[in-house]
Amino acid sequence: MTASPLILHAPVDGVVVPLGEVPDPVFAAGVLGEGIALDPLAECLYAPCDGEVVQCARTRHAVTLKTEAGVELLLHLGLDSVELNGEGIELLVAVGDRVTTGDPLCRFDADRVARQASSLITPLVVTAANGWRVSAMGHAGGVRVARGEPLLQLTEEARDIAASADRDAAPSTATRRITLALRSGLHARPAARLRDIARRHAVSMTIAHGKATAETDSISALLNLGLSEGDELNLTASGERAEEALKAAVALLTIAEADDHAAPCQATAPSGPLGEGELAGLVASGGLAVGPLVTYRPPLPQVPRDGEGEAVEWPRLQQALSQAAEALEQAEAEAAQRGRHGEAEIFGTHRAWLEDPALGDAALTSVRAGRSAGQAWREALDAEAGRLAESGNPLLAGRIADLRDLQQRVMTLLAEPGACEDAAVPEGAIVVADELTPSQFVALAERRPAGLCLARSGTTAHVAILARARGIPCLVSMGAVERACSERAILDGERGRLEVSPSAARLVEVNAAIETRERQAQEERRAAHKPAFTLDGRRVEVCANVGSSAEAELAAQAGADGIGLLRSEFLYLERASAPGEDDQHREYQASIHALGGKPVIVRTLDIGADKQLPYLPLPDVANPALGVRGVRLWQCLPELMETQLRALLRVEPLESLRIMLPMVSEVAELVEVRRRLDSVARRLGLAERPQLGVMVEVPSAALCAASLAEEADFLSIGTNDLTQYTLAMDREDPDLAARADVLHPAVLRLIKATVEGSAGRCPVGVCGAAAGDPLASLVLVALGVDELSVEPARVPAVKAAIRRLDIGRLAAELPALLSLADAAAVRERLSAWLTTERDPTTTTIERLPS
Ligand code: PEP
Ligand code: MG
Repeated sequence: MTASPLILHAPVDGVVVPLGEVPDPVFAAGVLGEGIALDPLAECLYAPCDGEVVQCARTRHAVTLKTEAGVELLLHLGLDSVELNGEGIELLVAVGDRVTTGDPLCRFDADRVARQASSLITPLVVTAANGWRVSAMGHAGGVRVARGEPLLQLTEEARDIAASADRDAAPSTATRRITLALRSGLHARPAARLRDIARRHAVSMTIAHGKATAETDSISALLNLGLSEGDELNLTASGERAEEALKAAVALLTIAEADDHAAPCQATAPSGPLGEGELAGLVASGGLAVGPLVTYRPPLPQVPRDGEGEAVEWPRLQQALSQAAEALEQAEAEAAQRGRHGEAEIFGTHRAWLEDPALGDAALTSVRAGRSAGQAWREALDAEAGRLAESGNPLLAGRIADLRDLQQRVMTLLAEPGACEDAAVPEGAIVVADELTPSQFVALAERRPAGLCLARSGTTAHVAILARARGIPCLVSMGAVERACSERAILDGERGRLEVSPSAARLVEVNAAIETRERQAQEERRAAHKPAFTLDGRRVEVCANVGSSAEAELAAQAGADGIGLLRSEFLYLERASAPGEDDQHREYQASIHALGGKPVIVRTLDIGADKQLPYLPLPDVANPALGVRGVRLWQCLPELMETQLRALLRVEPLESLRIMLPMVSEVAELVEVRRRLDSVARRLGLAERPQLGVMVEVPSAALCAASLAEEADFLSIGTNDLTQYTLAMDREDPDLAARADVLHPAVLRLIKATVEGSAGRCPVGVCGAAAGDPLASLVLVALGVDELSVEPARVPAVKAAIRRLDIGRLAAELPALLSLADAAAVRERLSAWLTTERDPTTTTIERLPS
């Protein structure tokens, strides 16, 4: 038996506004639910049905009622009326009150609300239908209705349909409350990724923060939310794949991004007092440069101010936008092909921004006001840039250059012929500019500038990322640098200084340093494809840490002797579900192929603690860093692990593959995985088995290295976690970052114990960040490790450092180093030793206590 329909009555005399025409995208898109709106002609809102008051806004402009059948209704007085902060509104009910149809809910001063809010239009929305179908009762927009007239009808028949649909399919609207974990807040790159997630899943998605909301389709709207790390948000997705989309969005927003583009923190702040003729800046990209100072002022293309009407200008703008999008797509693909992933992502973000409906709407308004397509685009982006500048948020202000880039790009396509001349910049110049857009940077980089000084921009701006990626020294936030003028200046990216008029002696000194570095880097790159032997003849393999087959290719180009760590968990990130066997297989096979026969160590899925996958909820424990993670996942996710093993065992040639287990704390874990590996290989009919090794990341593994080495084909020390667990210092805690140092004697002693424990039974490598640390890597080699695995770009420099090392001489220093009190003391003594080694005339070492 179905219940009789539920009628919602007009809460006030007023003029009907269909919900889709409400001038607020959140209501209009039905994000909050279906309903109708009225433009009130009286000053009191009445209950549209019987129910209980379940929510009253603190600012008195919204009331939610719940009917006996569980339907929830929101009555929202005006739009943006939250700004009134309750002034001019009197609530006549409180949470918990029961009301009957026609009871007064709130009285308001219509003039005041109309003046101070963006509109008096009052939506009535079914925010939770609980299986009831909402239908209008035939009132067209613009029709006047009297208070109490039936407006909407809710019928129960949809309940059964909804219930059965529920059983068969995912709900069409889903919501999650999350805490934003992105360290730099919701900036342009994650905003573009969020938009992509919504598109891929064909859902409409909204973020709400406090009273503010934004559709993920609009990058500008997302940025204007000004979200910072730690902000609480509501994410809502509507569409058949809402649940899946939300999972992927939650993954993106709740896992602190590994900010591969982050500025190197020790190099950002200028140091020491300013010398004469020096200007200070923040170091966005380190290094030294000498050259003439050349000011670069990119002109905006000339476009006509007035247009030929909407019928001509709007299609003209659309065409320019799609041409610009195509060019960006091509630039993105080219950058990705060259391994410039940061650059590719920036172009992708720009493409997403180009399609932003908010920018399109603003331009359309200007076109309708008589502007040409180019001028309309210019005005729309000027307004948006103004909003970002006013936000007071440096990260958002840093995105202005991106907007200017889009402005320039599209205006160039609409410019009058001959109106876009580029400023002349000679090769080898230190370029001074107010600010550069990423495209201007890329164009400028083709002219091979020696360095870059920007009056504005920050170290996280896209230009800074690009400068780092290309190794162009760059200072930012320099203030009035554009007035500086010199035939020969020095950009010192170590000290954060522009030396405008250096002495001749200083120029000679810096030029010599640059030459030495360049020669050295070139030699290192040339020699990187040969094996590295220490001065006293020991071979040390230098492999690379990668997260994908694309990076494996970069590693091969850089001269890596193999892959020492393929972090397979990167394959599992930013997705709504785990990758299937075939997807994984393709990626592993591509990495093996890229290395052309050299060994590739793939680490099995390592999640838990700081690495989480939302679609694989792990037990909620008080201390996840000490909980089920790494190899312990075999206990709770055996199928997932076996899928990964099958994908791995299918690669060819199998002898290039090595499988490595993370977070092993006792040998039984290795024995168990070897048993499973055997059984999977047998089922696949394989005669061979790949090597199986373990990571030494916890003190127990280091101390029991002998028993591990009995069973393992190799050991690889994960110094990041080993340092964390030895010193009880969270590797994610910025306050402890300076002290969580691998050179702490306790960590070094555990590394020594690992090498000694293995006693030559199996090779020992290091794949934590210490392997690429200029000082720590030398100690590791002296302690006896056989292999170092580092970032691909570091391979040439690490090989070169090994070739300069006399292990015997450093090994003689080890007892003294290991007996020091802390990491700082070890670093100091080691630096002094190195200085003496490289220049025996210095006496520093004698001044140090032995
Ligand atoms: C380590 O812990 O040193 C390591 C290489 O693993 P990850 O950094 O991926 O935890
Ligand atoms: Mg680790």
